[in-house]
Amino acid sequence: MKHGIAASKGYAIGVVELQIHEEIKITNELVNDINAEKDKLAAAVEESKNQLVKVKEQAALSMGEEEAAIFEAHIMLLEDPELIGGIVTEIEVNYLNAIKATSVVSNQFVAIFEDMEDAYLKERAADIKDVAGRLIANLSGCYVDTKIELENTIVVAHDLTPSDTAQLDRSKVIAFLTDVGGRTSHSAIMARTLEIPAVVGMGDITSILKDGDTVIVDGFNGCVILNPSKDEIETYQKKSQAYLEEQVKLKELTSTDTITRSGKRIYVAGNIGKPEDILKVIANGGDGVGLFRTEFLYMDRDSAPTEQEQYESYKFVLEKVEGKKVVIRTLDIGGDKLLPYLNLPKEMNPFLGYRAIRICLDQKELFKTQLKALLRASVHGNLSIMFPMISGLEEYQAAKAIVEECKKELDLIKLKYSDNIEWGIMVEIPAAAVCAEELAKYVDFFSIGTNDLIQYTLAADRMNEKISYIYNPMHPAVLQLIKLTIEGAHKHRKWVGMCGEMAGDETAIPTLVEYGLDEFSMSASSILSAKQQIMNL
Ligand code: PEP
Ligand code: MG
Repeated sequence: MKHGIAASKGYAIGVVELQIHEEIKITNELVNDINAEKDKLAAAVEESKNQLVKVKEQAALSMGEEEAAIFEAHIMLLEDPELIGGIVTEIEVNYLNAIKATSVVSNQFVAIFEDMEDAYLKERAADIKDVAGRLIANLSGCYVDTKIELENTIVVAHDLTPSDTAQLDRSKVIAFLTDVGGRTSHSAIMARTLEIPAVVGMGDITSILKDGDTVIVDGFNGCVILNPSKDEIETYQKKSQAYLEEQVKLKELTSTDTITRSGKRIYVAGNIGKPEDILKVIANGGDGVGLFRTEFLYMDRDSAPTEQEQYESYKFVLEKVEGKKVVIRTLDIGGDKLLPYLNLPKEMNPFLGYRAIRICLDQKELFKTQLKALLRASVHGNLSIMFPMISGLEEYQAAKAIVEECKKELDLIKLKYSDNIEWGIMVEIPAAAVCAEELAKYVDFFSIGTNDLIQYTLAADRMNEKISYIYNPMHPAVLQLIKLTIEGAHKHRKWVGMCGEMAGDETAIPTLVEYGLDEFSMSASSILSAKQQIMNL
């Protein structure tokens, strides 16, 4: 048995097909005819774009428009003046051949992204490698369209680029394994969307397996059984059957209310980052939205979204859920989430620094733009608004005072907002949990952000793998703070949700229900199994 990182749930028993791309020799040969080399590059860029348009269409069919958007980003990379312009400059100034020039320039970009601390941005280096690899393959005439012929194929590769993953023929490929990669790599994210099991970061799986080997992939435990015995195959066939039956049964719960055996109604909502994510929450039977991480609206652009742009996004989500509750969190930037255009200073301890509500109270205009967009959107549904990183009452009151200013400004220009908005705070700093009973007098609800609450309680950086053994949601101190928060709120008849990862953690759910948590908010793919678990408590 070989272990790796469990990237996507499920079991598969099938036959290995190694996907090893031909090594392309990159020479230092210099060119005389600069124009001919630039023409060659332009032709390869065009060819790559045409291929990507097809890949995008295929991906849209197998995974949906949203997932296919990544290939639009790849096409844009091929139009990027810094990337392509950089390659042209290398040809013009240093007489490099087009392949070498592509390799040099793309490596520089890859190095910049790999150096970033944010795990998501780090993984974007893979997109640049993917595009550069395609360009180089086309320049050298080595591009091969890998087509899978056999059913029950388990694709084994050193690394699967997002375009390789999107091109996997779902009717034939039942799982994949890679030597490299992590849970946040795009291929892992896509495997979860495709709902095929995958194990990544396996080290040397491409040198261990051969074409035609039979293997069992266990996407739950991140392991692979090589050349399994008859008994092992039978065991896994049974496990796989049971899992598939469970998935079909879970779908039946889509429109069922979640009520515990003792009769308590629990709300199981979804976490979203982009407005379109709401569609998956609805498809999985979520009770609205428990956390809209609005900072994602501010990312991948050169300036903050305008009031109108934000208004449209919030309105879209509110209307889609048809009256169900939508909890929108105001901008939570800083820590690991940066916005280059805000020019935030580099800090020694960014998670303890200039972050979230601290930035918004300081950069009032930025905050007011968002608040006005939210207020205006409130007439389109059932909106709750919460502030992140609240450490004490003063911050909440300061934020609410700015809300009042915004309301006055909207009144002046006769723009409407709802009077029924609920106002709440994220409880993610231990100080807020300890003072929950007092804070509960002033707010309408709490949402417990365990991702941060755990790191601050245990002094264990949530991004640092070396100390991840300390980062334990079930540590008694963490549980005590959660309990205090829920009890404090309930004393004043306020509701409490949880939107950190712990809310979707099946080992924590029974304890949280016992503590009286009213709402659980999690990624869309966890909603149905959480509903089922709670209904059995
Ligand atoms: C949290 O801290 O638990 C949370 C939900 O917020 P984020 O993960 O965005 O910091
Ligand atoms: Mg947080």
